[in-house]
Amino acid sequence: MAADSVATTTTPPRPVVRPKRKKALVDYLVTFRWIPAIFVALPLSALIYFCIYIGGMLSSMKPEERRRREHEENVHKVVRRLKQRDPKKDGLVCTARKPWVVVGMRNVDYKRARRFEVDLSAFHNILEIDTERMVARVEPLVSMGQITKVTCPMNLSLAVAPEFDDLTVGGLINSYGISGSSHIYGLFSDTVVSMEVVLADGRVVRATKDNEHSDLFYAMPWSQGTIGFLVAAEIKLIRIKEYMRLTYTPVRGTLKEIAQAYADSFAARADADAADDSKKKNHQRQQVPDFVEGMVYSPSEGVMMTGVYATAEEAKKKGNRINRVGWWFKPWFYQYAQTALQRGEFVEYIPTREYYHRHTRSLYWEAKLIIPFADQFWFRFLLGWLMPPKITLLKITQGEAIRNYYHDNHVIQDVLVPLHKVGEVLEFGHRELEVYPVWLCPHRLFKAPVKAMVQPEAGFEQHPRQGDSSYAQMYTDVGFYYAPGAVLRGEEFDGAEAVRKLEQWLIANHGFQAQYAVSELSEKDFWRMFDPSHYDHCRRKYGAAGTFMSNYYKSKKGRKTDKEVRDAEAEAAAAIVEPDAAE
Ligand SMILES: Cc1cc2nc3c(=O)[nH]c(=O)nc-3n(C[C@H](O)[C@H](O)[C@H](O)COP(=O)(O)OP(=O)(O)OC[C@H]3O[C@@H](n4cnc5c(N)ncnc54)[C@H](O)[C@@H]3O)c2cc1C
Repeated sequence: MAADSVATTTTPPRPVVRPKRKKALVDYLVTFRWIPAIFVALPLSALIYFCIYIGGMLSSMKPEERRRREHEENVHKVVRRLKQRDPKKDGLVCTARKPWVVVGMRNVDYKRARRFEVDLSAFHNILEIDTERMVARVEPLVSMGQITKVTCPMNLSLAVAPEFDDLTVGGLINSYGISGSSHIYGLFSDTVVSMEVVLADGRVVRATKDNEHSDLFYAMPWSQGTIGFLVAAEIKLIRIKEYMRLTYTPVRGTLKEIAQAYADSFAARADADAADDSKKKNHQRQQVPDFVEGMVYSPSEGVMMTGVYATAEEAKKKGNRINRVGWWFKPWFYQYAQTALQRGEFVEYIPTREYYHRHTRSLYWEAKLIIPFADQFWFRFLLGWLMPPKITLLKITQGEAIRNYYHDNHVIQDVLVPLHKVGEVLEFGHRELEVYPVWLCPHRLFKAPVKAMVQPEAGFEQHPRQGDSSYAQMYTDVGFYYAPGAVLRGEEFDGAEAVRKLEQWLIANHGFQAQYAVSELSEKDFWRMFDPSHYDHCRRKYGAAGTFMSNYYKSKKGRKTDKEVRDAEAEAAAAIVEPDAAE
């Protein structure tokens, strides 16, 4: 379908019709949430961001040698702490990170039961930027905002730099992470060159793709810190330029047509790939953008964005438009991008670091629900510089009632689906969730030499589709975040049931749910969605079973019963150390 084409007559799938819902006290608390958000969360956030800024500056002023020495000392502290654990008395091991500090939306209910915490809070330094090997050696609590501040002025970037400032390296590797460059480099964990891991018995090992711990290397992503503690990682750097030349392309049509226009915006169609026309292929290869993002605003409208790095010289040429999207008074990025639907296709240049963090100020589009008028010009001008409120403070000030309200009446889910299924998941989302805008971000899912928790569809390479190659299948992260249409219309909505249906859809369609999101999966279904073979093998081999919590135990919603805690701890007795474990 051509971009900006006229809507077809096909009607979108109808959302489920639901009865009206009676308002309760919590509805009013949610409606007036902007009061504590403005008067408490925003000023405190500014203070915290200022402290983080000073902390980052002090850390970068430390000589490299000192940072390295401190790192060694802190690793020893972790080892000592792990060795203090008495398996007969103490609970299972997890990090001491407070549940409200993390960005993710899970309740982190395992932190309300018996556990043995290990403090990793000292690991927040960038240890080295090696411009010869093109790797950054960083500690796990280094945040995306912190690292882009250092690398962008050097015209360097992590190959995959997730958009949101507060995300940490440890969370992005052990869970999942993505950015608009993932259609080239894969998920965040695919850009890792080496991992330094403290194992259950206190051994510190370095795992790479091809050393003696390569199995550990492939087991860490998606493991949620249930195999060992990551204490440092080397991550691939790429050379970048000062600006992103961004093209906004409006698309109109059915959800399937929008999905096709999105795929066409960055990948050659498979039939063109198959044609033995090397000239054509070369041409197409040259056109692969550095960054890709799609935004679906309604069941019939979307805007596709493709970016290519550009020099300052090019950006400043006469006639080119520069847009400093990071300035506090600027319109929120997702709303600005939507104007392409009226303006038609346009191109502009955005300073690269501001582009990377374009969704931070508006928390993607979630800030609109917290402070409904924060997107107005007067608010942006007066208080926009304080945005966004820190997720930590929002979590602290919400209380149990609002937290439960969000679970029932709100959706925050990222689902990873094969590119050829995007149209279908958009239709499913419209029918069951009706959440807009929907975020689309493509990513390669590489074939691994082991059965990793997340892997492409079996045999995809024999019948390559659009975006696929012999070594990776093209997937897409489809982000559903916002209040569902039913909730906005005051109708009943069962959030848990909607998530359950979404999860079943994913299992049936070889999709995966991002693990920061609330999950309703049973244990059996969890391991139908994620492949347990290699994960289980490594948990036994590296002594994690019975010491670290298991992945499902950590992700399961709801307070743990005593029995669950005891059963999980008893896993130690059942854990069989395989013969190849000893070193
Ligand atoms: C508002 C919002 C915006 C988001 N934006 C993006 C985005 O732009 N891009 C994107 O890719 N994702 C995004 N996400 C999802 C994000 O990827 C996850 O939340 C991710 O887990 C990172 O969060 P975190 O740094 O707080 O990690 P945490 O939640 O702290 O950690 C995630 C998991 O990793 C484990 N872990 C952390 N550190 C270690 C360690 N050192 N050793 C062993 N295990 C460890 C933790 O125990 C936990 O199980 C967003 C989520 C929300 C709610």
